[in-house]
Amino acid sequence: MVLILLGPPGVGKGTQGATLTEDLGWERIATGDLLRSARDTGTDLGRAAQEYMDRGDLVPDELIVALVREHLRELDEATSVIFDGFPRTVPQAEALDAVLEDVGRRVDGVLLLTAPDDVLVKRVSGRRSCTECGRLYNVFFDPPNVEGVCDVCGGNLVHRDDDDPETVAHRLEVYREQTEPLVKYYEHTEARVIAVDGDRTMDEVRVAIHDALARELDVRMEGA
Ligand code: AMP
Repeated sequence: MVLILLGPPGVGKGTQGATLTEDLGWERIATGDLLRSARDTGTDLGRAAQEYMDRGDLVPDELIVALVREHLRELDEATSVIFDGFPRTVPQAEALDAVLEDVGRRVDGVLLLTAPDDVLVKRVSGRRSCTECGRLYNVFFDPPNVEGVCDVCGGNLVHRDDDDPETVAHRLEVYREQTEPLVKYYEHTEARVIAVDGDRTMDEVRVAIHDALARELDVRMEGA
């Protein structure tokens, strides 16, 4: 099974993607996380991607497609995968289709998370992540017990540079222009496009995602 998590910045793709991956026991490929770790370790890719990420622009398709291809190659062909933050453009979606077709697979479902723009901006500006374990928090909706400290591992909580209000507004524009057309793209394929309202509590969204996946794709949590 290949599932794509689609939605604007701040809608909860990272949080729900991580939870869903754990619930289902699947693999997750999150291009934003891969790029941030490439940037932090100072690889060629990380250096090339940095300026685009800082501006809130998309990293060029060829870099992203090569990155994803490399990660897919490491996975067993039977492994179910959740893509989080990829594809983000129609050429990326076409490239993914071609890569999957080569191994006799296709995109089965597209989970489209939605929320109004004002909610997205507030969510992104409150976002913090742990530098050690990657756990995500939100100072408005899901604060840590102690400010700036991760509940899970005691690591330092940081705010992403590209989460400042101006860059977020730009990332939203980029989403509308370049990524939202993917909804139409996938509606013309065999993939099921499943919209879920992301403007609810994390647990409510999680339950709604599980219900939708069971209903539309017969995907159920392990042991459920
Ligand atoms: P994210 O963590 O998914 O919000 O991604 C953070 C940033 O990484 C984006 O604003 C882009 O600059 C870059 N990025 C992540 N995924 C992609 C992608 N599929 N295509 C192009 N750029 C991406």
